[in-house]
Amino acid sequence: MNSDTKTLSAELSKRNIRPSYQRIKVLDYLIKNQFHPTADQIFTGLQSEIPTLSKSTIYNTLNTFIEAGLVKTLNIEDNETRYDIIIDTHGHFKCEECGTIFNFNINIDSLTTEGLTGFKAIDKNIYFKGICPKCLLNINQDENERKENVL
Ligand SMILES: [Zn+2]
Ligand SMILES: [Zn+2]
Repeated sequence: MNSDTKTLSAELSKRNIRPSYQRIKVLDYLIKNQFHPTADQIFTGLQSEIPTLSKSTIYNTLNTFIEAGLVKTLNIEDNETRYDIIIDTHGHFKCEECGTIFNFNINIDSLTTEGLTGFKAIDKNIYFKGICPKCLLNINQDENERKENVL
């Protein structure tokens, strides 16, 4: 999605959402910050640009976007809801060191499932947890340093 104001405004109108300044800004933020932000992070990110912004506006806007199918929620942790602008099915990998949630492509329909004959799936999620390459590198470096210190 292109993120100039005109395109964003048209995108909202297309989905019968009145393209207010704040809604455009929230959509713009989600497109530019695809790290699956929480409502708090979106609020903090936009606060300086829109001093009149309130948290309830953020929540209302996000709910409007969800209902319109523009944004998906992501609940990897029970206690926090994150928002995802990529609505096509994709996998998520959460790094337990830095907390970043990465997207990856997966062909979910090619997965074999046993024991679900007769079930209708409404939502399919693939979550991986682990350590991202950047954090792995840091961990290895720390270990090397520790070894050097022992010698
Ligand atoms: Zn990491
Ligand atoms: Zn995602």
